[in-house]
Amino acid sequence: MTEVPRILLLGGTEEAVRLNHLLSERAELSVVTSLAGRTSAPTALNGEVITGGFGGQEGLETFLTEKSVDYIIDATHPFASQITNSAFMACQKLGINYLRLDRPPWPEKQDDIWIKARNVEEAADKHETYSRIFLSIGRQELTAFQQLSNKQFLVRSIEAVAFNPPASTVRFIQARGPFSLAAELELFKEYQIEVLVSKNSGGDATYAKIAAARELGLPVIMIERPEGPNCTTFQDVDGLFQAFLLGRNTCT
Ligand code: NAP
Repeated sequence: MTEVPRILLLGGTEEAVRLNHLLSERAELSVVTSLAGRTSAPTALNGEVITGGFGGQEGLETFLTEKSVDYIIDATHPFASQITNSAFMACQKLGINYLRLDRPPWPEKQDDIWIKARNVEEAADKHETYSRIFLSIGRQELTAFQQLSNKQFLVRSIEAVAFNPPASTVRFIQARGPFSLAAELELFKEYQIEVLVSKNSGGDATYAKIAAARELGLPVIMIERPEGPNCTTFQDVDGLFQAFLLGRNTCT
């Protein structure tokens, strides 16, 4: 390991922002934070920030070697499986420490009506009986719903999105969480939503839509998480940060 531990923090979540702030307070560490570059106005980060990806696992390996990185801290979203797999595999290959934050999924509660789907394609297949659909899955995977016709969609995403399924109406909302339960209930009622489509992202910032659906007795097509690498993960920022400081529980 180098004298000053070099860390690559993979971001794209609020937890990554907190980790960036915690790590940057430590003068003894050298930290580079990396973003995919999907969001035009990301939350402010300290220190060196790079954007736009590495060029797959191979590109990432080159970066890690050239920069003599000692640790990857992976605080990407639970559904960002490509970058997580690249990072994990690259670390395994190069003998670099890998720590992954994986916030717990939302549990299904009493009175929830969840229709589970293994991926967005399966979620899109479960829509025959619904007409007024609230799509809250971000913008990248909307194409799976592009084939559905004669629907009324409400699409919420952080960035603007192109989505025009045949013979359907689409209302777009550009907004970033957190959202309150009162506001979500209002939204469901205003658009007379019949079903919500959501990823099981976990965390507090976007949970109100799930609680709103439960309160209104509406079904949620819940997309389950992709499987992550087989290694120890941390459920919260503090746990990961403490383990990092103690040099514990990495995946190499
Ligand atoms: P993905 O499918 O795992 O990644 C696609 C490609 O984007 C990766 O192969 C990588 O390109 C690049 N990339 C992703 N995260 C990166 C990072 N932190 N730094 C540098 N390059 C990164 O991820 P995604 O689902 O498109 O998500 C993109 C970003 O948005 C992630 O950082 C994630 O944390 C955040 N996000 C995702 C979701 C979601 O639902 N998927 C929700 C909220 C936030 P190269 O192969 O060229 O390195």
